[in-house]
This record gives sequence, structure tokens and C-alpha cells, in this order.
Amino acid sequence: MTKVRKSEAEWRRELDPEAFRVLREKGTEAPFSGEYDDVFEQGVYRCAGCGTELFGSDAKYDSGCGWPAFFQPAAEAAIDEETDTSHGMVRTEVMCSSCGGHLGHVFPDGPHPTGLRYCINSAALKLEAS
Ligand code: FE
Repeated sequence: MTKVRKSEAEWRRELDPEAFRVLREKGTEAPFSGEYDDVFEQGVYRCAGCGTELFGSDAKYDSGCGWPAFFQPAAEAAIDEETDTSHGMVRTEVMCSSCGGHLGHVFPDGPHPTGLRYCINSAALKLEAS
């Protein structure tokens, strides 16, 4: 898989401010505010930073948490996971494996068949409707 490496200045120039804040500064959008929280169209969700396919709409579900939620990634290799101990919590951070962009976190309270909830910021995604 191609590794996309750009300087902070390049990312800042290419991304809109909210996508930059989320992807490159590990920001979190406000709950129920994102473009895709309540969207259930068919399509492919790509990384807003590098275009890599991250999630399919068939894995998206309404978790009620206020962010887009998926029960599995499009491919295991598409995402990286890392332990995140910020904000006094122990969570598992999810990143785009191609560009390293912060996407959100994964929690063990998802639905069948994986039991996982990938809680992902809308600003980190771009839906390619099909
Ligand atoms: Fe990416």
C-alpha cells in the first residue's frame, strides 16, 4: 500500500480547516454535527486526506452516538490502530494506514457480526456514492 507523506504545510493547504484539524491534529468534530452522521446512501467512504477506501456503506449503522459508525473497515490493511491515553481515557485510535490521518476510535460495543463500533469523524471521510 502506498504511503502518502506530506508536510504539515501541504496538508494545511490541501484540506479544509475541519478536515485538517481532525486528520492531522487528531481533533474531534462535535457530536451530531458531521456531514455523514445521518447519511445511509450506498457507496464507499474514502479518506478525506488521501482517497484510500476505508469503509463501505454496507457496514455503516445508526449507533446513536452522534458520529458515523461502522462495524468493520473495508479492509483490515486500510486502517491502523493505536492505544490512545489522552483525555484521561484508554481508547483505541483508528488511523488511515496510507496517510496516517486520524479518523476516530474503535470501541467494543458494536453490533453483530464483529461487535465493534468504528466511531469516525465525518470530516475525515469523503463519500463516493454508487
Ligand atoms: Fe488517508
